[in-house]
Amino acid sequence: MAELRFSALREVFSRQAVSPDLPKEKISEYYGVNVFDLPKMERYLPRGTYLSVKEAIDSGTTISREVADKVATGMKAWAIEKGVTHYTHWFHPLTDATAEKHDAFIERNDYEGLVESFSGELLVQQEPDASSFPSGGIRNTFEARGYTAWDVSSPAFIVGTTLCIPTVFVSYTGDALDYKTPLLKALYALDRAAVDVCQYFDKNVKKVIATLGWEQEYFLIDEALYYARPDLVLADRTLMGHQSSKDQQLADHYFSSIPERVMAFMEDFEVEAYKLGIPVKTRHNEVAPNQFECAPLFEEANLSVDHNQLIMDIMKRIARKHKFRVLFHEKPFAGINGSGKHSNWSMVTNTGINLLAPAKNPKGNLQFLTFLVTVIKAVNDNQDLLRASVLTETNSYRLGGNEAPPAIMSVFLGSYLTAMLDDIVEKVTGKKMTPAEKTELKLGIGKIPEILLDNTDRNRTSPFAFTGNRFEFRAVGSSASCAPAMIVLNAAVADTLRTFKKEADSLIAKGIKKDEAIFQVLKRYIVESSPIRFEGDGYSGKWEKEAMKRGLKNIKSVPGSLNYYLSKQARKVLIDGGIFTLRELEGRVGVEYEKHTKKVQIEARVLGDLAINHIVPTAIKYMTELLENIKSLAMVFNEIEFERLAGARKEVIIGISDHISMIKKLVNEMIDERRKANVIENIVERSFAYEKNVKPYLEKIRYHIDRLELTVDNEIWPLPKYRELLFTR
Ligand code: ADP
Ligand code: MG
Repeated sequence: MAELRFSALREVFSRQAVSPDLPKEKISEYYGVNVFDLPKMERYLPRGTYLSVKEAIDSGTTISREVADKVATGMKAWAIEKGVTHYTHWFHPLTDATAEKHDAFIERNDYEGLVESFSGELLVQQEPDASSFPSGGIRNTFEARGYTAWDVSSPAFIVGTTLCIPTVFVSYTGDALDYKTPLLKALYALDRAAVDVCQYFDKNVKKVIATLGWEQEYFLIDEALYYARPDLVLADRTLMGHQSSKDQQLADHYFSSIPERVMAFMEDFEVEAYKLGIPVKTRHNEVAPNQFECAPLFEEANLSVDHNQLIMDIMKRIARKHKFRVLFHEKPFAGINGSGKHSNWSMVTNTGINLLAPAKNPKGNLQFLTFLVTVIKAVNDNQDLLRASVLTETNSYRLGGNEAPPAIMSVFLGSYLTAMLDDIVEKVTGKKMTPAEKTELKLGIGKIPEILLDNTDRNRTSPFAFTGNRFEFRAVGSSASCAPAMIVLNAAVADTLRTFKKEADSLIAKGIKKDEAIFQVLKRYIVESSPIRFEGDGYSGKWEKEAMKRGLKNIKSVPGSLNYYLSKQARKVLIDGGIFTLRELEGRVGVEYEKHTKKVQIEARVLGDLAINHIVPTAIKYMTELLENIKSLAMVFNEIEFERLAGARKEVIIGISDHISMIKKLVNEMIDERRKANVIENIVERSFAYEKNVKPYLEKIRYHIDRLELTVDNEIWPLPKYRELLFTR
C-alpha cells in the first residue's frame, strides 16, 4: 500500500497542465450554442408554435399536444443538425444527483426502414421505471411507474451527442418524486403573493420572479491521490488524516494567483458552461488550500437551480480530463474550512424593480421596506424549517464549524437598516399618526441610500445576511441542490406575504389609510421578529448563549432538525401553501431520514474497513520492526547500556500497541451499535440511533488513527496525508 501512496505522488509530480480547448470567438458569440432557447425556437418553430411556448413560459402553464408535436419536430431538426443522436428526459430525483436515461432518435418505419423520429408525445411525457428512486414509501413497488414531463421554463440543451430535456418527475398517483415540481409550485406561490402586495404600490406589476445567484465552492484533488484514498472514493470525505503542520493559517491561498493546472481546468469547464448558457462570471481561490469558487450572474431561480446541477456535472466531467477530482462535499478535510453554496436571493417584478433594492423615492422605499420586513418575519417564523432544508448529513460537519454559519438561524441587516427599522418601531405608535409624524417618517424612508451595497457592513458569520440588494442564504451546503432551500424560502416568504396582505387589508377595511395600515403591520412584524435579528459575531460562544435566551434553537443533528418539516408551522407553509400534500411531505422527510442513516452507515463501514485492513496491519509492521531492533540491541549491548537505549523504543511500542487495542475495541463496538440500529424498523428511530450511537465512533476511532499517523514510519504509511492531498497540484 505504501508503494501506492508514493507512486501516486510521483504521478502527481510528473503532471503537466492540459491545455484547454478554448474557442477563438468572444464568449458572447458562442454563449448558449448548445441550448434550444427562445431565439432558436423562433428560428426552428412555426410562428404560432413559438408564441404558444413563449406564452406558456411567461404564464407558467403547460403546452398542448399539438404545440408539443411541432416543438418536438423543431427541436429534433436543430439537434440533428448539431450531430445529436439521442435524447433524454433530465430530472432531479430525491437523491443528490440528476437522472437521465438515453434513447436514440430512431424508429422503424414500414417504407423507409430506420428513420430519425421524435414526437411531441415523447417530448412532453415519458415513463421511466421509478421503483429504484427514493420515494419514502409513497409509491408501492407494484405501482412502479412514474412519469416525467417537460418543464417549458427550462430550455432543452445538448451534452455530447444527447439532447437533454429538463422535466418534472411525478408518480402515477400524482405525487411529486423530485425537487423541481415543488420548486415550481413554491415559485408560483411567491409570484402570486408578491404581486398582490405590489398592488399597494404599483398597479402595473403582474409578475414577480425569484432570482438566485449561487456561489459554488469546491476542492480539487489530484486523481492519483484520490484513488489512493478509499474514504474519498466511497464517502466523499477523508475519514482520517492528521492536520498538516501548515494549512490555511497564513491566509495565503484566498484570492491568490490560480495555479496553472487549476486554471486550465477552470477555463475548460467555463467554456462548456457558456455553451450551455450558464453565465459563470467569477472564479477565485478560496480560504483552504486547494479550495476554489465559481459564481455566475444571477438568474430566475428555477433555471439557476438547473444550471447549478448542470455545472456540477460539467465540473466533474472536465476535471477527469485534467486528472483532477472535484470534491463538492461540505467538509472533505477536518480542521480546515469546508465548502458552502451561498445562495443569493431576491425578487424582481415584470416592471424591472428589484424588490429588495432601495428605491429613489419614499413610495418605492416603502415597498422595499415591506418586502425586507416580510422576509425577516418569514425567516423568524420559519427558522427551524429553513434549517431543516439545509442541514444534511454532509453539511452537518460544516454548520457550526466556526468557519461557516452556525446552526442557529439569524438575520444580519447592517447598521443603517437596523436604525431604520428601530425608527419605525419608535414612530409608529398604533394611535392615528399626525400628518407631521407621517411626513417625518416618510422623509426618513425617502433618504435610504439607493446604493446600500457600499454602505452595508459585511458580516461573514451570519447565515442569512442582507447584502445591499438581496439576501445571502449562506447555510446551504456545497454538495446540495439549491432546490430544497429555495422551496422552503420561497414558500415561507409567500406565506408571510399572504398574511401581511390580509392583515393590512383588514386595517384598511376599518378605515385606516393604506400607508398607515402598512406601517402598523410592519411595525408589529419588526417587533415580533426581533429575536432573529443579530448583528454581532455568529461564531462566538457569546452568541450561542444569547440565542438561547432569545429562544432561538441551535440544532446540529440531522434527525433532530428534520422533525420540523412536519411541525404545525411547516404544514401551514408547505401544505396549506399548496407546495406539498401531506403524503408527499411525509414521503420526502422519510427519504431524508433514510439518506442520513445510509450516509452514516457507509462512513462507519469504510472507516472500520480502513482501520482494520490498512491502519492496524501497518502499525503492527512498524511495531515488529521496533521489536526486532530492540532484540538486536540486546545482542550488541550490555544490560545497563541496553536499558538506557531501549527505553524510548519500548514507550513507542506501548503507545502503538495501546492505539491498536483501542481501534480494535472501538471498531467492534461500532459494529455492534450498527447491528442494533439496523434492526430498528421505524426509520426515524433508526436515524436517531445512527446519530446518537454510531456516528460518535467516527471521531473516536479517527483520533487513534491520526495519533498513529504521527508515530508510524512515513515510508510505510498506506494513505496519502493531508499535506500531500492539499499541496500537490
Ligand atoms: P460575494 O462573494 O461578495 O458574496 P460574489 O460576486 O461571489 O459575491 O457573488 C455574488 C452573487 O450574488 C452572484 O452570483 C450574483 O449573481 C448574485 N446576485 C447579485 N444580485 C442578485 C440578485 N438581485 N438576486 C440574486 N442574486 C444576486
Ligand atoms: Mg457571497
